[in-house]
Amino acid sequence: MKALDLLKKHFGYDSFRPQQEQIITKVLDGKDLMVVMPTGGGKSMCFQLPSLILPGLTLVISPLIALMKDQVDALRANGIAAGYFNSSQDSLDQQETLKKITAGKLQLLYVAPESISLLSNHLPSHQVSLIAVDEAHCISTWGHDFRPAYTQLSYLKQSYPDAGLIALTATADRATRADIKTQLAINHAQEYIASFDRPNIMLEVRPGNNRMIQISRFLNKYKDESGIIYCLSRKSCENIAARLKALGYDAAAYHAGLENRFRESVQEQFIKDEIKIVVATIAFGMGIDKSNVRFVIHYNMPKNIEGYYQEIGRAGRDGLQSHALLFHSYADVIQLRKFAEGSGNGEVQIAKLERMKQFAEALTCRRRMLLSYFNEFLEEDCGACDVCLNKPDFFDGTVHAQMALSAVYRMQEKAPINLLVDVLRGANNASVIDSGFDKIKTYGSGKKTSWSDWQQYIIQLINQGLLEIAFHENNHLKLTAQSHEVLFNNKPVQLAVIPKIKDTPAINTPVELPDQINKALYKELRDLRLQLAKVENLAPYMVFSDATLKDIARRIPLDDNEFADVNGVGVHKQDKYGQEFLKVTNLFKEDRTADFAYRTTTSKKTKKKKSTGGLTDTVMETVEAYWNGSSVEEIATRRGLKVDTILSHLGKRYASHRDVDVNTLIEGIDLDELEKLLPNYLKDNSLKPVYDHFKGAVDYGKLGLALAVLQVKTMT
Ligand code: ADP
Ligand code: ZN
Repeated sequence: MKALDLLKKHFGYDSFRPQQEQIITKVLDGKDLMVVMPTGGGKSMCFQLPSLILPGLTLVISPLIALMKDQVDALRANGIAAGYFNSSQDSLDQQETLKKITAGKLQLLYVAPESISLLSNHLPSHQVSLIAVDEAHCISTWGHDFRPAYTQLSYLKQSYPDAGLIALTATADRATRADIKTQLAINHAQEYIASFDRPNIMLEVRPGNNRMIQISRFLNKYKDESGIIYCLSRKSCENIAARLKALGYDAAAYHAGLENRFRESVQEQFIKDEIKIVVATIAFGMGIDKSNVRFVIHYNMPKNIEGYYQEIGRAGRDGLQSHALLFHSYADVIQLRKFAEGSGNGEVQIAKLERMKQFAEALTCRRRMLLSYFNEFLEEDCGACDVCLNKPDFFDGTVHAQMALSAVYRMQEKAPINLLVDVLRGANNASVIDSGFDKIKTYGSGKKTSWSDWQQYIIQLINQGLLEIAFHENNHLKLTAQSHEVLFNNKPVQLAVIPKIKDTPAINTPVELPDQINKALYKELRDLRLQLAKVENLAPYMVFSDATLKDIARRIPLDDNEFADVNGVGVHKQDKYGQEFLKVTNLFKEDRTADFAYRTTTSKKTKKKKSTGGLTDTVMETVEAYWNGSSVEEIATRRGLKVDTILSHLGKRYASHRDVDVNTLIEGIDLDELEKLLPNYLKDNSLKPVYDHFKGAVDYGKLGLALAVLQVKTMT
């Protein structure tokens, strides 16, 4: 049987990905190869498919013991005779596997490097026709996950001289590649290096202000999808997970400080779609083979581009549209710099951090920049990053630049970014007053520009070389040689307009299905998949991937023939699951025909618009932010309003709709006592006497809110 037929039969795919075909042809020829492909690129197929054609056994050396069972389960679900051998099995299991090997019943055998020596007696040389060394970078001390047992693999080529050897990895620079080949004794091996581009991952960077608000808006677009949020510290992992849970999301924290058992259970539930969002330190994701991770959010900036790339690579392994969102904050940069300085090779790390920062601040196509870091050069802009989708507009920012630079000058270069913004905006907080900066001429000159816009403009000035951060002097901003040109010779400065958070709709609608009706079907298909997976104790993606379910929802196959055409449906799974899925599609088709007539007559009436109940935009903006999980303080800071004002907005909405949860906000107020004052308050409509009654112990805003609650209560 030809390779392409076997691809369809066992995996349900119609064609090979770029490079897979050439690689497989060489492997079938018995050649040794070195393959570098990004995560999700389809490396495994390069040895899995040949194993179906070659006689005897294909040996796969893999360090990811925790993953082996999943990989083997997935292969078996495709009707492939696969097994594994590692230290996590009990001896009974191991004996069972050995028996199968001896009886020649296995096509593919996954082995941990530490266990391979135990096997050599059971694996005579004539029986092994192909050896795949997966995660081959682990062999090299140059690579980043060095595994001592990997260095003993050179004997493979001696013991099995007739078997082809293929080394595979997702990360290997030139030095590492050379090292891998030498150590495996395959110096002559041809190299296949696939593009590192992952075009299905949309790249986006946003300023790290009000991150929780931004995240909750983001998550609203990804209801029921799986994703990972990476943070720097264990504490913020737990905080964020707790807040997401409070907002009703299936979220869990995962970090090195948690008990092993707990971590394993989080990982397992995530793989099985039972937990949708994992908030984790970088410890999470290493050995996870979950194809339907739809988004990766970096709450904090990663310390270098390699790390960032590896982490976002965990999204979209099924090739479907996915989203990588990075928050960029200067506080993170400063923190990471401190870590780097304290480490052994500080200079290298600082240089890498600098590249990461440049990426985050780029005003040109981010993918081009990212790939150029890996020495790959795109001919054109990608069209799928935030910069490409929202090309920044520039304006003449000379006056802004002059205001900022002259303030830096007048403060004698002794203020960090935040203080500079405060001074420009004329804030009268302690740090401004104490330093006497409220006396300088530029104090308050930039009132008209919002706090966060100023912050972004200053970052742009830094990137243009007009300001510098003195990391060793409390991060004070310093003028540069170029700043003088702007300050004294009127040299023009261009600044990019800061896009508003809500102005990025193109990026916010990622997982599109053809129409509403198919979305409903998709949901039913997912439910069925979950049921079937539970029965067999498999991860749902092993039944069918998201890509396959979407193809079903798009095609709506009604019989076996149509079902066989679906992408990702092989013979084995067709036999096993076809009838169940066809039941759903057929029912759907019938319902839809009936429903369609109904819908066309009623659609106008049922169109819903969220009512604002006559409340003003400013009230509704507060209310929506609150619904989205922001705290009152966050909303106040972001909107530049007083906390009391925000509370009064919530009070108004509560009074008219009762759909904001205000009880937590008025906790601790003696409501019985307050109720006594209500009649008087209603009569002269003044809060002052109430405030005085509580001797100023309760803020005006809270009192107003509590009174609104009491009024509602007495009315009902
Ligand atoms: P890697 O090992 O490189 O990280 P995988 O081998 O796990 O990647 O492949 C990633 C995903 O792509 C898997 O879900 C796999 O089934 C799928 N895939 C591989 N080859 C093809 C192909 N030719 N057509 C469609 N999907 C494929
Ligand atoms: Zn781009």
